[in-house]
Parts: sequence; structure tokens; C-alpha cells
Amino acid sequence: MMIRALIFDFDGVLMDTGRYHYKSWEILLDKIGLTLEPEDDLVLKGASRIDSLEYLLHKGQLLLSHYQKEALLKEKNRIYLDLIDHLTLQDLLPGVYPLIQAAKKEGYQVAVASGSRNARHILERIGALDLFDIVIDANDVPAAKPDPEIYEHVCQLLHLHPAETVVIEDAEKGVAAGIAAGCYVLGLGDPAYLDKAHMVVSSLAGLGLDDILQGVSRDLIA
Ligand code: MG
Repeated sequence: MMIRALIFDFDGVLMDTGRYHYKSWEILLDKIGLTLEPEDDLVLKGASRIDSLEYLLHKGQLLLSHYQKEALLKEKNRIYLDLIDHLTLQDLLPGVYPLIQAAKKEGYQVAVASGSRNARHILERIGALDLFDIVIDANDVPAAKPDPEIYEHVCQLLHLHPAETVVIEDAEKGVAAGIAAGCYVLGLGDPAYLDKAHMVVSSLAGLGLDDILQGVSRDLIA
């Protein structure tokens, strides 16, 4: 089967927003007497806002009411939006823009599938929404990664079989979601955590479309 689309995750793939998510959880936890630890990042990366909070409260052995949790989620997002207010189109991660341009030139469709409820809003604010054929975020799909639903949904909208798409993901949960949906997956980051991906790179900078197509389909050819 031929590859016909690239599907980008948002946080950690299109933009380096993961560290602002991390920082906003750190500020929030501090307000309720808990401490965020660096290893928590692996759990939080790619997880939905509510799943992240539930994990952190469970770890901190803090029992809160539904109402209190709602208030914390709202506050977390307020802090996050404040922290990312300065981001512009120039802050797309290295290699992203050239890859999108190359893909479009070759007739590939280009999409975004993010577990963040802020993804579409941020892309719109920085003027990047038009770069993509389809943008789906956590407002559109209730099931959070590692559930494959978000990738299945994007493939349906693209009118493609998942095996005609390459998902680009920086989180273990996102890689798992893409694999479970039946997509090819390019992992971005540490191979130690992304070993389920068909191919792993440390950056998209300088990466050509051909490198990706050859890399992900190596197991098919072999
Ligand atoms: Mg991500």
C-alpha cells in the first residue's frame, strides 16, 4: 500500500509545548502542596488533561471532589495559556515546515491529531491552520491516547486506510495509539520509550519525505 498522508501530533512534534505543559502542572501542584518529578513527564506526555490530573492526585494521595478537580483543570489551562502566549509561527519545531511543504508538493495529505484541547486554537492563533487538510484535537474525539480512536477518526476523514498514513508522535501513548489504529508510526525522541514505532528519529530537522517512507516501510521490504 502507498503512503498518502502524514498525520502530526501537536505537543512535542509541531511545537515544543511539552515543557510548558510540564511547567504549568508544576505550578499547579505547588499550589496544592504536591511536587512534580521529572519522571512524571513520561506519564503526562500525550495524556489528556483529566488523565494527567487523576494520575498526579493519585500519586500525591489527594482525594478531591469533582468540583475541585474541575477548578484545578481550569487553573492548569489558564497557567498553560499564559506560558505559551508568546509562541508564533517561528516556533514550529525545526524540520516541520519543510516537511509539510514537501509532502504537499508530492500530493500527500497533511493532518494533525492532538490529544490537547488547545491544539486547533493555537494553530489558528499563530496562523498555521491553513497548512493542514484536517485538524482534529481532543475537542473532537473523547477517547484519549493510547486509545486509537483519534487516529482512526482522522484516517476516516482523510478517506484513507490507516496503512496509507504515517503518524508522527513524540509520546509512548501516542505511538501506541497510532500502532493500534494500524498506521505507520515515526517516533520523535528517545528510542528507549518509542520502541513500538516503525522508525525513531531525534529531530525532524533535515529529514526528507523519502527518508520517512523508506524508514517506516523497512520492515515491509525485509
Ligand atoms: Mg505529543
